[in-house]
Amino acid sequence: MIDIKKITRQVTIQRNAILSKIKRLRRDDPFSSVDRSLIVEPGTDAGMLFGHEQAVVFEQRLKSDLKEIEFALRKIKKGTYGKCEKCGQPIEFKRLEVKPSAIYCLDDERKVERGGK
Ligand SMILES: [Zn+2]
Repeated sequence: MIDIKKITRQVTIQRNAILSKIKRLRRDDPFSSVDRSLIVEPGTDAGMLFGHEQAVVFEQRLKSDLKEIEFALRKIKKGTYGKCEKCGQPIEFKRLEVKPSAIYCLDDERKVERGGK
């Protein structure tokens, strides 16, 4: 049996952790207060620029995690939690234990990761 309260708690904790990571990232990013589409002036500190690029890549990854987590929370509300979004089959319980925010069964997640829709 899936303990939906426990899952909700776990997923919410994950969500908050990601949100605070994004916040910290923006604070630490030397360019965060500047327009992100800025054209880099010659002589811009290379280390700072590298830090900025890393922060952007990392933030994108965090945001895609966040999207998945919010999707999982919506599924909990709708009562479809634990069912694969693609094939509608129940997601393996062991998988949900490891990754409570999973919205696809293992097969479909592999397909999604390969880029097939
Ligand atoms: Zn599936």
